[in-house]
Amino acid sequence: MTAPTPLIAGNWKMNGLAADLTQIDQLAASPPLQAAELLVCPPVTLLERVARRLDGTGILTGAQTCHPAASGAHTGEVSAMMLADAGASYVIVGHSERRAANGEGDADARARLQACWSAGLTAILCIGESAVERSQGAADSVVGRQLRDGIPDGATAQNLALAYEPVWAIGSGQAADRAIIAHMHRVIRSALSIRLGAEIGSAIRLLYGGSVNPRNASEILATADVNGALIGGASLSATDFLSIAHATAT
Ligand code: PEP
Repeated sequence: MTAPTPLIAGNWKMNGLAADLTQIDQLAASPPLQAAELLVCPPVTLLERVARRLDGTGILTGAQTCHPAASGAHTGEVSAMMLADAGASYVIVGHSERRAANGEGDADARARLQACWSAGLTAILCIGESAVERSQGAADSVVGRQLRDGIPDGATAQNLALAYEPVWAIGSGQAADRAIIAHMHRVIRSALSIRLGAEIGSAIRLLYGGSVNPRNASEILATADVNGALIGGASLSATDFLSIAHATAT
């Protein structure tokens, strides 16, 4: 089976004002990349403007979360259908910062995935263990539970990507070492194949996230079962983001 095209996704988190759209213009002006698909997930305030600027470039636009309901009395929330309407094609679901700050659990992730699929969007489900869970030897079982409880029936390589993001590596400047990434991606791939069958399990893109930067990207992206990266801090600079994307080809 041929490996899926890598996905290089940028999560701007709560960063970005109109002035930062120059970074998007730089991405839009860059030569198209054959070796990878690019995705930018700006804050929702910039989503439509980013989508318009990237229209026709092949670079996709995504959101950082969505509400599970399609519409209704949920002040301040944004539904998957609204995100699609604004130009999103992807939504990040279950990011560890939302799990920690908003108490989102696996059932919440599952409901949000279902909402994404109902709106025709692809979800990137974030999974990964905390430092404490790793120190207790529970990393494999934590991601196993997040996969089992977080993914509804009906997952395909078109509607789902996964991001393995060890919580302790996010924003720390210290990515997980290659042996850990290789082990965790193998565990996740195997769980996906058991749950969804070998064909779908091997076609779903499995991204690594946690302090990816232009210096460590080649090594991480060359690791078995790594089909791209979810990038926080380094995605705010178009130069760094493109340099990581180009590392897929090396
Ligand atoms: C993230 O927030 O998903 C992330 C991977 O952040 P960083 O690249 O900054 O560690």
